[in-house]
Amino acid sequence: RRRPLVMGNWKMNLNHREAARWMVDYSGMNDDWERRMAASGQPLDRPEIGILPPFTSIQSFIDTIDERGMDGDLAVGAQTVSDVAKGAYTGDISADMLSALGCRYVLVGHSEQRRYHPEDDDTFATKMRVVLDNGMLPILCIGETALGREHGIGIDYALRQLAEAVSRMSCEDMRRVTIAYEPVWSIGTGNVPDLNVIESALADIRDFINASFGADIAADVRILYGGSVKPDNAAAIIRLNDIDGFLVGGASLDPRSFAKICHRV
Ligand code: 13P
Repeated sequence: RRRPLVMGNWKMNLNHREAARWMVDYSGMNDDWERRMAASGQPLDRPEIGILPPFTSIQSFIDTIDERGMDGDLAVGAQTVSDVAKGAYTGDISADMLSALGCRYVLVGHSEQRRYHPEDDDTFATKMRVVLDNGMLPILCIGETALGREHGIGIDYALRQLAEAVSRMSCEDMRRVTIAYEPVWSIGTGNVPDLNVIESALADIRDFINASFGADIAADVRILYGGSVKPDNAAAIIRLNDIDGFLVGGASLDPRSFAKICHRV
């Protein structure tokens, strides 16, 4: 009942011209894949796919999706958002601005945001609200640091981040939330946790949602894994219980690698 989701997080990469180029290359690859699937008689069964460009690349990315006639095939989102609606907040971007552009998703609490723009958990809870109130879908990132892992507080740390961020969600709100479990020590390092460690973390996250919001909601919420997902490990990770897709960093910058990951889900 949950449709898998593969999101590419470009972080601070690809300017607006490079974003348009990426889209052209990706759409060519996608056409090839569709032709191959059609020729082999296999169904075009694919996950929901999306990209989170930097703010300044969002418009050209959306324009290129339209030009290539891929409307509806690729969702677009943002990597963060301000927790306030408007006003004297130099450098910030509001949820209304993102929703007016056509963003469907917004990341909340990515570990790089938590690290370089320290904000408290209450602010993340507000951001979750602001995203939903503007008709978009939050993807909440949680995950322990290397230090946390060494001290054996991995999943407890992530669950605390989760509890704080969803503290102001109703059950109906929660249905529209996606969780991305990203162990910080796995991001950009090529170190993927043992598969049974990922599986047990995802199960703990779903148990938490079950305990806080009920079985019905827990069955609806999508949980993604992020951290060094590549074309050669995606097929093994996606077979785990409780996983609903990926949040892909580095490998999403190359349209070919990203398409390969999407086609393994
Ligand atoms: P990498 O895929 O580069 O490890 O990044 C993961 C990530 O942070 C996605 O949000």
